[in-house]
Amino acid sequence: MSKDALDNANFYFETAAKELGLTRDVAVQLRTPHRQVKVECNIEKDDGSIGTYVGFRVQHDNSRGPFKGGLRYHFEVDDQEVTALAQLMTWKTSVVGVPYGGGKGGICVDTRQLSEGELQRLTRKFVDGIYEVIGPTTDIPAPDMYTNAQTMAWIFDQYAKYRGYAPGVVTGKPIELGGSLGRSAATGRGCLFACQNLLGALGDTLAGKRVIVQGFGNVGSWAARLFAEQGAKIVGIADISGGYVNAGGIDVESAIAHVQAHGTLEGWTGADAIDGAAIVTQDCDILIPAALGGVLTKENAGDVAAKIIVEGANGPTTPQADEIFTKKGVHVIPDIYANAGGVTVSYFEWAQNMQHFYWEEEKVNTELERIMKNAFTKLWAEATTRNIPLRTAAYVVGVGRVHQATQLRGV
Ligand code: GLU
Repeated sequence: MSKDALDNANFYFETAAKELGLTRDVAVQLRTPHRQVKVECNIEKDDGSIGTYVGFRVQHDNSRGPFKGGLRYHFEVDDQEVTALAQLMTWKTSVVGVPYGGGKGGICVDTRQLSEGELQRLTRKFVDGIYEVIGPTTDIPAPDMYTNAQTMAWIFDQYAKYRGYAPGVVTGKPIELGGSLGRSAATGRGCLFACQNLLGALGDTLAGKRVIVQGFGNVGSWAARLFAEQGAKIVGIADISGGYVNAGGIDVESAIAHVQAHGTLEGWTGADAIDGAAIVTQDCDILIPAALGGVLTKENAGDVAAKIIVEGANGPTTPQADEIFTKKGVHVIPDIYANAGGVTVSYFEWAQNMQHFYWEEEKVNTELERIMKNAFTKLWAEATTRNIPLRTAAYVVGVGRVHQATQLRGV
C-alpha cells in the first residue's frame, strides 16, 4: 500500500516533469526528499509494560519556505507513505502559493489501542526525537489522520521545554493556544470552494447536486455540512463502520451529533446502511473521497457514477483509476488543490502567531476563498491551454514554481 502511495506520487510528478520539459537531473533533484528522520518512541503503558513505536518525519523540499505538513497516527504509516505524502505537500503549498515547502510525519500506531495518557506520552516522546529538526522557520507540523488540536497542543508544549514559547512550531492548535479561527473547518471549506470554482468554470452551480462523502472525520464531516449549507443534497456518507445512503437527503447535523456521541456512525439510523466500500459507486453527481489513500482503483473507477470528484483525502485515486476518469470525462479536482484549504489556513495561523495579532473568522474564510479562487484560475488556464486534466495542470503549476525557486537559489 505504502509503496503504491510513493509510486503514485512519483508517477504524477513524472507526468508534470515531462509536460514541463524538465531534464532528468532536475527531475531527480526535485523529487528526492531533503531529509528523512526515523525515531524510536518508547513509552510506559498504563499497565506498566513498555510500548515501542516508530515515528517518521520526512522533509521533502524547502526552496519556497519552511517544510510544512501534517502528522498522521495510523497503523499503516511507514517511511514510504510518509515520503509520498511529504512530496504531495511540496506541490500543494506551491499550487496555492503559500510560502512553504513540503513535509510530513507519522507514527505507526493504532490510536484505538492507546489511552489518552499513552497518546500524550507518545506525542511528547516523538517531539523529543525530532525537536532539533522542527521549528517555526524550519518545519511546521499540523494535524492529519487521527491527530487533532490536542495533539498539536502537546507538541507545542513539549517543544517549548526545549526552545521556549514558539506557537508557530505547529498549526491546527486549539484557539486558546494560538490556533486560528476557521482552521478546523478549513480543509472541508477549501473542498467546497474548489468544487464551486470548477462548477463556475463549467457554467454550473451546486444547487441540488447529489453529493456522496466517503470518510466522516474532520474533512468529510465539515465538507458534508458546508456542501449541504450551500444547497447540495448529501445522499451518502461513510466511515470505518460502513456506508449510509438516503436518496432523499441526509440530515448531516444528526450524523455529526451521532459521531460526537459514539465515536463513529455505527448504529446511526438516519439512512440505509450499506457496505462501506460500495459507497463510492453509488449514484450521485459529486463524490468526495475524504478518508484513506488509494480508494479509487482500476477495479471500481468504471462504476463510479459521479461526474465530479473532489479529493478531500491525500492520494485517493490511483493513476489507473485517474486514466479511466479522464477517458470517461469525469472532472477530478486533485488533492494538491482540492484539500489545500487546510494548509492555507495553517499558513494564516502561523502568520498570526508570528505577528501575535489575531484575525476574525470572517477574514480567515474570505482570504481562503481568495486564495482558492486565484489558484483555480491558474490551474484552469493551464488545463485549457495545454489541454491536460486538472491534476496534471496542478502538478505543472506546483512543480513549475518549485523548479523556479530551486533554480533561483542555486545548487
Ligand atoms: N494534513 C493536512 C494536509 O495534508 C494539513 C497540513 C498542514 O496544515 O500543514 O494538507
